[in-house]
Amino acid sequence: MSAPVVETPRAEPAFDANHPPSRALIDTCVHCGFCLPSCPTYALWSEEMDSPRGRIYLMSAGLDGRTSMTPAFVRHFDACLGCMACVTACPSGVQYAPLIEATRGQIERRSDRSFADRLFRSIIFALFPYPARMRIALAPLALLGRRSAEAFAVRGTSGAAPERSAKASAGRSAPGFLSRVRAMLELAPPVAWRSLTARTPERTAAVGERRLTIGLLTGCVQRVVFPQVNDATVNVLSAEGCDVVAPREQGCCGALALHAGRVDDARAFARATIEVFDRAGVERIAVNAAGCGSSMKEYGHLLADDPAWADRARAFSARVRDVSEIVAELGEPRAPRHRLALKVAYHDACHLAHAQGVRQQPRDLLRSIPGIELVPLAEPEMCCGSAGIYNLVEPDAARDLGDRKARHIDDAQPDVVVTGNPGCTLQIAAAARRRGTALAVRHPIELLDESIRGASR
Ligand code: SF4
Ligand code: SF4
Repeated sequence: MSAPVVETPRAEPAFDANHPPSRALIDTCVHCGFCLPSCPTYALWSEEMDSPRGRIYLMSAGLDGRTSMTPAFVRHFDACLGCMACVTACPSGVQYAPLIEATRGQIERRSDRSFADRLFRSIIFALFPYPARMRIALAPLALLGRRSAEAFAVRGTSGAAPERSAKASAGRSAPGFLSRVRAMLELAPPVAWRSLTARTPERTAAVGERRLTIGLLTGCVQRVVFPQVNDATVNVLSAEGCDVVAPREQGCCGALALHAGRVDDARAFARATIEVFDRAGVERIAVNAAGCGSSMKEYGHLLADDPAWADRARAFSARVRDVSEIVAELGEPRAPRHRLALKVAYHDACHLAHAQGVRQQPRDLLRSIPGIELVPLAEPEMCCGSAGIYNLVEPDAARDLGDRKARHIDDAQPDVVVTGNPGCTLQIAAAARRRGTALAVRHPIELLDESIRGASR
């Protein structure tokens, strides 16, 4: 490992005493570097300070007062996708998730972001966690079609090529407001009026004898952009003998806020979500969006310091499952599966594979469908660049990672790409569009639903 450069501290230390990254967790890193090849930003830039080891070193320097919260310090952490590929790769069991969350919490409270940077982030957090506002924001797309978003995206650049991310994070300032808006337009999905007005039924009865009562998180992006995934989840779970409850009053689970360091917001969303599902009296909470599932499984940790909520949050997290885990838990299928003759590439969403360790269950779910052939993708552990709001706030790096993933998908030549996270679906579809490929990107539960319903292929 080359000796990293630590900046001369200014008057202010990098971290204050309000939940800094844990020294004990930092010290579990033995600097072996096994995590480096799996880190997407290290793969892009080969820069030590944009690797997990480098970032942990920076956290340590911040704790020791050897660096302050300079713009370069912040850029190294802004550039991290929070994909947790380093957690999978680390032989020493370093817990990077609480480290980056604590660091981001400090950055959100204490860094000097530019006005444009703060404004863009404020817009995202005033919009995405609120489905009613999302519906209004997406209405023009339903009216004019997604090509209108493309037209605006192209006009926004005045024909100029986007900046690529060849330089490491500290060598570039934060992306500008307009390039972020352009990324948002590029990622915009096709939106149908039906999506904007769709509502998941509040109660769906089990087919046959009831095996479980399951609460369904309908998700903010999922319910507005991909309501068919929620429909498929309800259909499959009820066909497999579960009562499904989708409480009408549920809101955002707080995942976007948590992963961006907005910890107080995340805690408020977590308390409201726990309250809603506890009232519903369900035995499990099914999640079909990997980012949401990973943060809901972390509620116990998020609310550990709140005596009124800590026990409730731990008990809640213990009941949260990705929908593929529930299908696996139910065991022997009750509903017959019909043939779907499809070549399928399964893309591991980072917040499912790395953050939750759920890799086998979605593959088993797909293999249970007669006729499906699973084809492998190169670099399966590598993030597609979606990563919560990353593809909006760091569009250049995200585009490079999306293009890399799209190349691997092209090489595998599947009929359909399948992934368990709406952010990955949007990111992969946008990357495929840039390559001029008409690629179908679906959720595994949609294919299982088609198979159970006997939709012929
Ligand atoms: S979370 Fe992902 S991007 Fe961040 S350091 Fe770990 S591997 Fe790299
Ligand atoms: S995070 Fe783990 S794999 Fe990476 S340098 Fe530290 S101990 Fe090694």
